[in-house]
Amino acid sequence: MKEIFRHHDITRVNYCRELLEAAGIPTMLRNEHLVHGVIEIPIPEFYPNLCVMKDADYERGWKILNEDAKASEKDPGPDLACPHCGEMNPGNFAACYSCEKPLLSPK
Ligand SMILES: [Zn+2]
Repeated sequence: MKEIFRHHDITRVNYCRELLEAAGIPTMLRNEHLVHGVIEIPIPEFYPNLCVMKDADYERGWKILNEDAKASEKDPGPDLACPHCGEMNPGNFAACYSCEKPLLSPK
């Protein structure tokens, strides 16, 4: 098992987890429980972090996360308000990270 991503925002960690799981890479979340009910823990050691179960998946998973980060830097578009729950989402999200309903792009 190897840590591949760490961030104070659990929604970002969850998003990366979904990307990896969608690519068939088994993952595990650590420290997830520590952020429940807490806005932000300013200690990186306690940030939620994502691990790949098999070290052999690490390189492939890292590439997937990297390519996704690059793609979202290129054209994130304007933030979209979720039509279902009102949560703001980055413009390149296809589904609301909060309620997981599809986002309607104004484009
Ligand atoms: Zn929503």
